[in-house]
Amino acid sequence: IGVLGTGDFARSLAIRLVCSGFKVVVGSRNPKRKVNLFPSAAEVTFQAEAVKKTDVIFVAVFREHYSTLCDLADVLAGKILVDVSNNTEINHHKESNAEYLASLFPACTVVKGFNVVSAWTLQSGARDGNKQVLICSNNQEAKRIVAEIAQVMGFTPVDMGCMSSAREIENIPLRLLPAWKIPIFLALGLFLCFFTYNLIRQVIHPYIREQKNKLYKIPIEVVNTTLPCVSYIMLSLVYLPGVLAACSQLYYGTKYRRFPDWLDQWLQHRKQIGLLSFFCAALHAVYSLCLPMRRSHRYLLIETAVKQAMEKKMNIWVEEEVWRMEIYISVGIIALGLLSLLAITSLPSIANSLNWREFSFVQSTLGFVALVISTLHTLTYGWSRAFDENQYKFYLPPTYTLTLLVPCTVIIAKVIFSLPCIQHRLTRIRRGWEKGRYVKFVLPSATGEYSSWETSSNV
Ligand code: NAP
Repeated sequence: IGVLGTGDFARSLAIRLVCSGFKVVVGSRNPKRKVNLFPSAAEVTFQAEAVKKTDVIFVAVFREHYSTLCDLADVLAGKILVDVSNNTEINHHKESNAEYLASLFPACTVVKGFNVVSAWTLQSGARDGNKQVLICSNNQEAKRIVAEIAQVMGFTPVDMGCMSSAREIENIPLRLLPAWKIPIFLALGLFLCFFTYNLIRQVIHPYIREQKNKLYKIPIEVVNTTLPCVSYIMLSLVYLPGVLAACSQLYYGTKYRRFPDWLDQWLQHRKQIGLLSFFCAALHAVYSLCLPMRRSHRYLLIETAVKQAMEKKMNIWVEEEVWRMEIYISVGIIALGLLSLLAITSLPSIANSLNWREFSFVQSTLGFVALVISTLHTLTYGWSRAFDENQYKFYLPPTYTLTLLVPCTVIIAKVIFSLPCIQHRLTRIRRGWEKGRYVKFVLPSATGEYSSWETSSNV
């Protein structure tokens, strides 16, 4: 195997190729200077020499320098060139790097591949052997040869078709969490809305109405009352698109009608939305555990104790409050436990070990149970606050009442869908039954002629 270039990628590639049993010849403009960087089993020579000695050549050179290889066009003719290059921006050039290389060397067969693997991954050896290598080329045989090399090196080759896919393959390493963009913006949007709402209620209201400085509440208390709101609503947003999809299927009486694009997108992002819900719930748990550590909490505790002593109150135990708190914390822990289970089973390695029924039991049934338990957690937190007029700061209702809206809608809808008459219809629709689909019956009449009529399949 030939490698053109002696940079980071070329070096890691050569080491991995040698370790995988290939004979490697490295082509450099200045082999003497670079020879010490490579394992002794790899031959480091001039570019033309390396090309002459090999049939498959990895071009580990930046696109900008491809034209400097044009002197090698004659010796390269008939060889397979593997383009490993990446760009610095998505869709940087009009044509992909691989297509550009192919245009410079029309007598060669170009294969795009290995660009999604970093020099570090190449060096980390067989431990990272399950990493995918995306490959594309217009020549099937060349693609097969490069795929075989990737497999021997411990990678999983993925055939991405012909050269027109090169642009997409080159964009992959540059994409930043593409599936997470919408869920992250959604979580941030919710966080900002609830943070502002809680800030008004917990900090601005006491300042304006009672001239009390409660700014100290911002870093922990306000954040900690915001996080569960985001987590709870995000969890309900995992199940809301399923409810909307079921409504659409019931309304149109078919599963073959395409959902609107926004609903399609939403359905595809449920995993990320669920994981962000878990993330916020986990943060909420940690913040809550830290609440008693704060100085402000200690001062308030001492202040309450002094007040109690001055008023000579011996017993401040309120049975209802005690029970509310015990139940509130207990269901909160259970909800977090269930969310952890959902998060763990969404990991590909765990999800792949479950069959469809197991996966849907955990994600759908247990997920719904988590939503119900989170609702109990929220209700026991709020308790009777919704009926206390002092809780309506600037006429704004307590935050928990707002968070209940979407989850309760989802729970009620799910309960309605589980009614036998609706569930039966939904199951039939999902098995392919369609409303108003006409079936033509053709029967012989008394005169021997055939008569026909149409009826709805509903009948
Ligand atoms: P690098 O360290 O800068 O090495 C580039 C090499 O190209 C040089 O060592 C040089 O070797 C050779 N070269 C040939 N003609 C050249 C010229 N006219 N001017 C300058 N250098 C010339 O870059 P790299 O990180 O190894 O990346 C090489 C290619 O691999 C790039 O296309 C990159 O996109 C791709 N890639 C890199 C990584 C990574 O993790 N580094 C990951 C995926 C893909 P000689 O001086 O010996 O000729």
